[in-house]
Amino acid sequence: MAMENTYDILVVGGGHAGVEAALAAARLGKRSALITIDPDAIARMSCNPSIGGLAKGHLVREIDVLGGEMAKAIDATGIQFKLLNRSKGRAVWSPRAQADKILYERYMQRVVKNTPGLDVISGDASELLIEGDRITGIRLRDGSRVPGKICILTNGTFLRGKIHIGNIQIPAGRYGELPSIGLSDQLKALGFSVGRLKTGTPSRITKRSIDFSALEIQAGDPDPLPFSHSTQNFHPKNIPCWLAYTNLQTHDILRSALDRSPLYTGKIEGVGPRYCPSIEDKIVRFSEKAAHQLFLEPEWEGAPQWYVNGFSSSLPVDIQIRALRTIRGLEGAEFIKIGYAIEYDYFPSHQIRRSLETKALKGLYFAGQINGTSGYEEAAAQGLMAAINAVRSLEGKAPLIPERHEAYIAVLIDDLCSKETSEPYRMFTSLAEYRLLLRWDNAHLRLLDYAREAGLQSRALIEKFENTGSETRVLEKKYTVTKIFPENPLQIPLEQPATLSLLIRRQELDERHLSLLRKHYFPEYGADAVDQAFVLTRYEGYIDRQFKQVEKMQQLEGRRIPALLDFNRVPSLSGEGREKLIRFRPETIGQACRIRGVSPADIQVLLIYLQK
Ligand SMILES: Cc1cc2nc3c(=O)[nH]c(=O)nc-3n(C[C@H](O)[C@H](O)[C@H](O)COP(=O)(O)OP(=O)(O)OC[C@H]3O[C@@H](n4cnc5c(N)ncnc54)[C@H](O)[C@@H]3O)c2cc1C
Repeated sequence: MAMENTYDILVVGGGHAGVEAALAAARLGKRSALITIDPDAIARMSCNPSIGGLAKGHLVREIDVLGGEMAKAIDATGIQFKLLNRSKGRAVWSPRAQADKILYERYMQRVVKNTPGLDVISGDASELLIEGDRITGIRLRDGSRVPGKICILTNGTFLRGKIHIGNIQIPAGRYGELPSIGLSDQLKALGFSVGRLKTGTPSRITKRSIDFSALEIQAGDPDPLPFSHSTQNFHPKNIPCWLAYTNLQTHDILRSALDRSPLYTGKIEGVGPRYCPSIEDKIVRFSEKAAHQLFLEPEWEGAPQWYVNGFSSSLPVDIQIRALRTIRGLEGAEFIKIGYAIEYDYFPSHQIRRSLETKALKGLYFAGQINGTSGYEEAAAQGLMAAINAVRSLEGKAPLIPERHEAYIAVLIDDLCSKETSEPYRMFTSLAEYRLLLRWDNAHLRLLDYAREAGLQSRALIEKFENTGSETRVLEKKYTVTKIFPENPLQIPLEQPATLSLLIRRQELDERHLSLLRKHYFPEYGADAVDQAFVLTRYEGYIDRQFKQVEKMQQLEGRRIPALLDFNRVPSLSGEGREKLIRFRPETIGQACRIRGVSPADIQVLLIYLQK
């Protein structure tokens, strides 16, 4: 193949994974192409018009620190911002924003178009071009060839996608968009195992048909915080959403049509997310509940089209309409789009390494929904990491792989590489064992070394993060010696003087005092450092304990398993343990410990074998 027109990196798919991958690859100086079926659909939100949420908000912050685009895009186009769980502990605070999905797409499309070194190719990638054991390019459906050294596949829900509405089935990648045919069959023929998953989306109704006076208002924070460290002068809109409830009549109508639901008649083979069930699934599984919450969300500012969050369904059209119209405030609902389920091919993720390169084919990376995940943020995080590692591989560098105590991105990728994904994988705070270390507020400090190494972040921000880190260390010490007296500007009632650290631990000084604390005691320090030192003091005991656990675990994480180790030759492994080790091929003993089916006894056997 002629090499002069060869791209360094080809990204297939312009969804959330593809956009981050293509931008990162080009920004790192590699000649890149984003091949996508419809360039006008780049960065489209297939489902809910929002970014962030529990644990997902953490991912967005990490993407931002590493130099990705998602945080900046939502800051520029969001219409309501909220820090969730503010009444709970710091570990589970998480930012979420309601998006103007049209502006979001336009923002990303503009950034893609204006990125030097990045070409957008409109086309349907139907075949990988392979020579020997390496990728050499992509063939498009029209027969043309796009040569490239590395290919990152981010096909989302499009691979042999099929929409279900009652008994109706429509081949599609998303409503109104054609599916991708060819790639998954080719990969299957090459020996990849392929699975089938399902997800769903609710109906969209007209704004004018909603009786808002019967609904509960849900506003954003009055003092919103941006996702991105580079966002300045942040004064976003605060457009409300509205809360409605299903009732027993709604449930009766839905239940009466279960025999026409593709979920229950066996027409859908793919497994859907248990944590985000369709409304018909909810009324069956939680039959004791008399009502379920629904959030009504505008899809963009001034939109005539509203999203009925919580009412995802694949029931026939007449049932969806009748059921929704039983809800207070939605009696006159007019439908713009009906809810549907979609089934698609994915590649069970034991087939990728933590770099996101496939084990079977050098130069081929998978990122996003294709790996069995669900969600824009999970997809974007993988797209970014796949591109960073693809570039590093071209430069002969080792992949960048954060550890589980350093990032939710690491938890996500490590889980993909060591756990079966039998349902779409969504990030939750409960999946992280070191939650208190992985706060949304400290992503810039815990990922500083990675941001420096990845090379995507601006010098100015890296310096700012370094400065916050050193100020935080100084303040932590100062808090232990600074005395607060009974007459204090913080207005904390005290009988005797006490150190700041004591007051923080006794919870007499909390977040509400921080701006006064800075103003009166530490005006020369940044607000961020004052806050970081506060959190580290407040949770010191718990944080120390988590670091001790990390240290213990790192002894195992540091024990590498040779890539060519033949697990069949390791005597005394359990049958299941051996099978899982062969399937997942863990890179370290730590990773092997997390594979379900590999017992502590198997780990001992493996350690002794490696020692020998
Ligand atoms: C109906 C529906 C409901 C969903 N519900 C939820 C939900 O409730 N919660 C949630 O978190 N997530 C949901 N999702 C999933 C969410 O949309 C995805 O997780 C996210 O968009 C994945 O990003 P991605 O980049 O992997 O893929 P996508 O955003 O799907 O993007 C894939 C891109 O690849 C392009 N493409 C595909 N094949 C080819 C090809 N052969 N050649 C060229 N281009 C190609 C497409 O045109 C598209 O631009 C839903 C998705 C759908 C379709």
